[in-house]
Amino acid sequence: MQTWVIGNWKQNPATNHDVTMLVDSLLQATNKDNVTKNAATAVCQLMVAPSCIHLASVSARLQDSSLLCAAQDISAHSHSTGAYTGDCSAQQVADAGASWTILGHSERRQYHKECNDILVQKMSNALAQGLGIVLCVGETQAQYDAKQTLSVLDAQLSVIKELLNQQSNQSPECAQKLADHLIIAYEPVWAIGTGKVPTVTEVSATHEYIKQTVASFAAPLANISVLYGGSVNAVNADNFAASPMINGALVGGAALKADSFLAIADAF
Ligand code: 13P
Repeated sequence: MQTWVIGNWKQNPATNHDVTMLVDSLLQATNKDNVTKNAATAVCQLMVAPSCIHLASVSARLQDSSLLCAAQDISAHSHSTGAYTGDCSAQQVADAGASWTILGHSERRQYHKECNDILVQKMSNALAQGLGIVLCVGETQAQYDAKQTLSVLDAQLSVIKELLNQQSNQSPECAQKLADHLIIAYEPVWAIGTGKVPTVTEVSATHEYIKQTVASFAAPLANISVLYGGSVNAVNADNFAASPMINGALVGGAALKADSFLAIADAF
């Protein structure tokens, strides 16, 4: 199973200078150190998702490295160009050097009212450009307290089924293409930036549910990686990495310092 450690930089760092410093620290450390080796054979793939304004410069600096670059979002409009002020299309982020895009992050759902219809469109646009998708799912504190986590996940994961239904040829190749381009990140909203984390047992059971659910949509999806996100740091990463159900981490705050991001990578 491929493991991933992905840094979601959100609306950070503030300046080009700080972005360059962060990228250079990552490059220095990954060049001299085999930090991404896991269990002597498997390789933990590292990826960073800078803000859109920094995407082209970061991906250019990372070009000859083992780190991949992702966008944090793409436009829902299917046209590659057009009168959509403020949007960046899948083609534009791919041209800027991104090979993946995060979609459905809880901050997009909360602040930009991103709903399933929009997400299906964005996923379709990503696939049309050959971009991989890091689909974020997860319940709020109130939903967690009300024991609604699994029903929330059912509703959020249904975008995958809708996408498969929508693709004109529902062939095994179509499901395989999606499987090759999809990672799920389980991020309980109440764990993001709070220092609160669910237990590894809870996360493992939830990931098992996610894996079973997506496998029920199409057999090739049985093997996709499911990452955990929410207050992952250099200290707790080992605990999450010990579970075979947790195939990596989507990291926010701790990804803004090269040493903590790479310590998390080391754990996986
Ligand atoms: P933190 O690691 O800061 O909790 O953020 C997690 C996250 O939202 C990554 O997408």
